[in-house]
Amino acid sequence: MSSSPAVSIVIPVYNEEGSVEALYEQLSAALERLGQPYEVIVVDDGSTDGSFAQLKAIHARDPRWQIVQFRRNFGQTAAIAAGFQQARGDVVITLDADLQNDPNDIGALLAKLDEGYDIVSGWRVHRKEPLLTRRIPSQAANWLISRSTGIHLHDYGCSLKAYRREVAKGVRLYGDLHRFIPALASQMGVRVAEIPVNDRPRHAGKSKYGLSRTFRVFLDLIGVIFFLSYFHRPLRVFGGLGVAIGGVGAVILLYLGYVRIVLAQDIGDRPLTLLGILLVVLGVQMISTGLIADMVMRTYHESQGKPTYHIREHLR
Ligand code: UDP
Ligand code: MG
Repeated sequence: MSSSPAVSIVIPVYNEEGSVEALYEQLSAALERLGQPYEVIVVDDGSTDGSFAQLKAIHARDPRWQIVQFRRNFGQTAAIAAGFQQARGDVVITLDADLQNDPNDIGALLAKLDEGYDIVSGWRVHRKEPLLTRRIPSQAANWLISRSTGIHLHDYGCSLKAYRREVAKGVRLYGDLHRFIPALASQMGVRVAEIPVNDRPRHAGKSKYGLSRTFRVFLDLIGVIFFLSYFHRPLRVFGGLGVAIGGVGAVILLYLGYVRIVLAQDIGDRPLTLLGILLVVLGVQMISTGLIADMVMRTYHESQGKPTYHIREHLR
């Protein structure tokens, strides 16, 4: 096996035949200027146009370009995950294939990473996209994600990002979560920085996403917040809720017991009786769900030998 490159570039491609050649030219020129050994991993996410044929030709003339072809369209996140898995560089950089990102920004990303950061994210200060359908929803999402994860970025949606290898290899990506990587990686205790990058109009072709993405991003955000807060101690959230709800139910039932026994009144037809019983049952169920979730967590860590910590450095 050849010696490992310093930089791995990961690019998801889905029907980008109009951009692939220009991408090769512009990216190669930018990388040559950096003067570091690199590899480019293009993941063809089930393209149905001429993208793969073009990529194959590029691979034939430049072996630094690896092409991974998916059997069908699995989505941008899956394509990025596949690229991360193949990457051998110390630094892994993601980039869109449509040249909206400027390959000439890669140098600045690497320089920032060298200052001791684990993730450097691009920030498209002057975005070229429509205000109402793209920029406003994305600003709302950025604000929410930043607030709720504690990793403050202006532009989670920017594809151009640089990761230290351990970070890229360490995050598990499901669904449409690639834009949340800095937030997900915050679990590992990463240092995140942001630098302004160039935003350009799409080189060719059409965007693969419509307005419905906004809703999916908000839904994903709920999942991410939950995951970040309670992944390691699910009993805390379920148990806490269970104790609170069951506690209210218990107080209600105690009061009703007092009414029945001491005041000798009928309680059978009171709605409060039903509520008290309901809350106690709900509370017990919540606590047991928490216990099961805790066991699932342990199984996750122990069956896969996954550590419950992440080491930055080990001096010995
Ligand atoms: N992409 C992909 N699989 C998909 C959708 C998109 O690999 O199912 C790629 C696409 O080829 C591009 C990048 O992901 O390189 C971003 O997609 P797009 O430019 O359509 O998104 P936008 O820039 O409009 O947010
Ligand atoms: Mg794009």
